[in-house]
Amino acid sequence: MRIALAGLAAALAFALPVSGQEIDTGQAIEDLRVLTTDEMDGRRTGTQGAADARAYLAGRFFMAGLVAFGETFEQPFTYTLHRSSEQLDGINLIGRHGPDDGEGPVLVITAHYDHLGNCGGQICNGADDNASGVAAMLAIADVLRDTPPEHLIIFAALDAEENGLNGARALVADLPVDQDRVVLNINLDMLAINAENELPAAGAFHFPFLRGHIDAIEVAEPTRLIQGYDSSEWGPGGDWTYSSDHAAFHDAGIPWIYYGVDFHEHYHQPTDEFEVVQQDFFLSNAQTVLNAVVYFDERLETIASELEAFRSALPEAEEAHVGEDGRFMKPGME
Ligand SMILES: [Zn+2]
Repeated sequence: MRIALAGLAAALAFALPVSGQEIDTGQAIEDLRVLTTDEMDGRRTGTQGAADARAYLAGRFFMAGLVAFGETFEQPFTYTLHRSSEQLDGINLIGRHGPDDGEGPVLVITAHYDHLGNCGGQICNGADDNASGVAAMLAIADVLRDTPPEHLIIFAALDAEENGLNGARALVADLPVDQDRVVLNINLDMLAINAENELPAAGAFHFPFLRGHIDAIEVAEPTRLIQGYDSSEWGPGGDWTYSSDHAAFHDAGIPWIYYGVDFHEHYHQPTDEFEVVQQDFFLSNAQTVLNAVVYFDERLETIASELEAFRSALPEAEEAHVGEDGRFMKPGME
């Protein structure tokens, strides 16, 4: 009897739609809260506060069942700031779910954990920017621990975003898999504050085959998803192609979707605190992004072949349109 019931349970489990997965809302709020405590001191790259945040995140990566590519989750890197020759240090955390068999398309989820540290003499805790994106990424990792994805999915908590997307550039320059395999980056940066519950998804202007997919992904309530903010059509400050870590993928010609809210009164202010986060909106955004990850995992071969078709349809001269600084550009982007 026991065996028969176990068999029935297994059959039912397989019959359930995989898109029915739900994030652990309590854990997501707790992660957001912990990352925004004053002990993290605003998580400025290179500080003890950033190291404390990283220690917490490494523990959460472990709990979420993420597997390191090397001996640890840490990916140390050096970078320089504009007009300086001083070498600075940063540390990304990267881990994976799914098979690592050396082939097949790969999805990379990114969210920067660093923030400004102190600003105007006060701690800037960066609840929306970007404890929210990191907490959402952890929530997705937790779900995929219990229902492993079909494809290799890389989770990257990135450092040194605020001073120039340096962690993302280091990651793309030193990916743990062949760059050719990476067919999509989903970047999460600011998922928690908008008076209209509006969540923009940017990226399809540059990679138009993504548009229909983004529209097909189930959006959790009360989020209102819109596509845009990825071209000059959106006016001054409205083209976010280079405004967060997905830009490093863009420059490498890798498709990306950037989920993040519009600017608001708490942006880069000491008031970007846990208390001002719209918890329902944050949770529905995290759930929506989980839905996106599950959706794309189920269709990653399709995305790979659509990307191949997209690339081969680019006129040769334009396909090779890479600037002196190595930036991939679409015609008209100069
Ligand atoms: Zn940010």
